[in-house]
Amino acid sequence: MGDPTALKPLEMSEVFKNDFINLNMVVSTEVGQTPIGTGNLKKSWTEKDRVYSHYKTNDLPFRFAVASSKYQKKSITHRGINIEVLYDEKHPENVDRLLNNAVLSLDYCIDNFGAYPFEKMSFVEVSAFTSGFAATAYPATIFMTENMIFHTNIDSDPSKDVINELAGHELSHIWWGNSLISPDEREGASMLTESLAMYTEMMIYKKMYGTERMKERVKIHEQIYDNEKGLYGNPPLYKVPYGATHIAYSKGAIAMVELSELIGEDKVDEALRRFLANNKYPKKPTSLDLLEEFYNVAPDEDTKSKIDKLFKSI
Ligand SMILES: [Zn+2]
Repeated sequence: MGDPTALKPLEMSEVFKNDFINLNMVVSTEVGQTPIGTGNLKKSWTEKDRVYSHYKTNDLPFRFAVASSKYQKKSITHRGINIEVLYDEKHPENVDRLLNNAVLSLDYCIDNFGAYPFEKMSFVEVSAFTSGFAATAYPATIFMTENMIFHTNIDSDPSKDVINELAGHELSHIWWGNSLISPDEREGASMLTESLAMYTEMMIYKKMYGTERMKERVKIHEQIYDNEKGLYGNPPLYKVPYGATHIAYSKGAIAMVELSELIGEDKVDEALRRFLANNKYPKKPTSLDLLEEFYNVAPDEDTKSKIDKLFKSI
């Protein structure tokens, strides 16, 4: 094995690339289970001893997943979007909370960033044996592990409301992921996904629990960042490499909340709306495109240099 390809420097020229796919998938499983895919669900049917689901969506990043289990289902319709939770019959305790959070999170993202691009939103429980994530967002389907979400006792410590943390965060990845924008793979890319998802998560948390509680959560990220920057390196946020979670998530949350205090949450959201509008696929935006939108809503030069300090200094 050779060395991994070096990450592209941030300053390289801009990229337009047509690399999205039209997804057309049929998933089948045994009767009694529900076949789950990603994207919009067009049709479900049973034939002999198999159950089938047909998923079809155009213009998606090359990214899909499947699951199958004996699921219970609870669903609501909100703003014309079918929101459903598919869960194990032994784990019903957080389903309503998850649906409530999905509604709050969808409202925040639609009102502040723009329309939700799919016909439905599914939250799907997967096994605790699945490693590497607590929750992960695919187009129109978010997979969440049984131990982290469905079978966890939130009331034992409400300050650790993982449902809010994950529902808000993961849902916002529909906007800040690879669907509505498709960041170029270079330094700073995860500032456009994870740092913006952390910002959304914090603003929804603020709406639910107030500013003080939200700031307690930011403090936890300050501790994570301080503990890990010495061990894992400390490049500035706008050049964050892949895998540096203490920068993309923790420093991202800190810097974005500070930005919302510097110029106001409304201005941050305005900049994010413009960032989405100006960087549509097939353009592959970079962190410099996002900084440009922050400068555009800054009232003066002094504020611009403070913005630079948040994202470009260490
Ligand atoms: Zn994330």
